[in-house]
Amino acid sequence: MRPTKATVRLGAIRDNLEIARQFAPDSKIMAVIKANAYGHGAIEVARSLQAHVPAFAVAFAEEAVQLRDAGISRPILILQGASCDADAAEAADRDFWLMLHSRQQVERVLRADVPGPVRVWIKVDTGMHRLGLAVSELDGVCADLSASDNVQREQVLCTHLAVADELTHPMTRQQVRTLRDYASGHNLPLSIANSAAIMSWPETHASWNRPGYMLYGNDPHGFAGTEASGNPSHGLVPAMTMSSEIISIRELAPGDGIGYGLEWVARKESKIGTISMGYADGYPRHAASGTPVLVNGQRVSLVGRVSMGMISVDLTELEYVEVGDPVELWGERLSVNEVAAHAGTIGYEILSGLTGRVPVTYLP
Ligand SMILES: *Cc1c(COP(=O)(O)O)cnc(C)c1O
Repeated sequence: MRPTKATVRLGAIRDNLEIARQFAPDSKIMAVIKANAYGHGAIEVARSLQAHVPAFAVAFAEEAVQLRDAGISRPILILQGASCDADAAEAADRDFWLMLHSRQQVERVLRADVPGPVRVWIKVDTGMHRLGLAVSELDGVCADLSASDNVQREQVLCTHLAVADELTHPMTRQQVRTLRDYASGHNLPLSIANSAAIMSWPETHASWNRPGYMLYGNDPHGFAGTEASGNPSHGLVPAMTMSSEIISIRELAPGDGIGYGLEWVARKESKIGTISMGYADGYPRHAASGTPVLVNGQRVSLVGRVSMGMISVDLTELEYVEVGDPVELWGERLSVNEVAAHAGTIGYEILSGLTGRVPVTYLP
């Protein structure tokens, strides 16, 4: 059997959830499990968190259907809302909550043939300019929703922050002020905070917080944030470890190149190991030579280009190493944020890009 596998510790995700709760003890937590729970397995993660959170969030209806079909019973908010009339009807039927981000989506709910009232959240564009109603549209939307039998009474006003991961950016305060100014006259529950805001912007904490990335144990401020804070992760523990083994070792003479393009060339006698992990498995193809990999728990460097199913690492400095020795690509001892930084991307992309080619083992 190929030695490459991901191990997900569900207990770590529950512990990280408690950390999110400690940051904002007065807020309810909606666990964001879109994109297959950031690559961790949405059904398994939802099963493990069900007893600990009142609701989940996913991006679109198909993701919610998959969870319901698997027996997940908590309400599931669909962050992009109903994409068609059938989505709106299904929401009432299956206890999906709908984000309404445009007038068109409001109309869709108002005219839907629903078996009962749907719970809706109203997405407000306070500056990210991706989705959401303008503040000037809210009076009309709230009035129409309140007058409709298709809609449950208490609606939540929601916005998404564009730069919550930048600790001093003025935009976050401005976005919060825009939403709170409107809400103060209307007594509506609010939802603002993602992971970065939960950790860094107490003024964003509201009725509902929506943590995603931090639940999986990674710092949403990225590798730079991790370094700068001096407190690597506020106690967050990465839930996934991507591991493998060395499958081959060879000695290179000065001038010998490695892999496609022979891009990395040995300057001295070098011992090079091959690992069965590549971009088809979700390892970032743009990871540069020098990207850290743990072999026997020791840091070594990726060398040469990432192939579809293999990478090479420089083992020259290791005293003892042989075929079959254990490898960690990222996980508890090597932050996925750090790997991402060497690949010009973010940990979010690496985790959510996992394809299913690598088997996942779950630990309680
Ligand atoms: C993905 C998402 C979140 C979670 O963001 P994290 O940075 O992963 O915590 C929260 N709210 C919305 C609307 C999202 O799309």
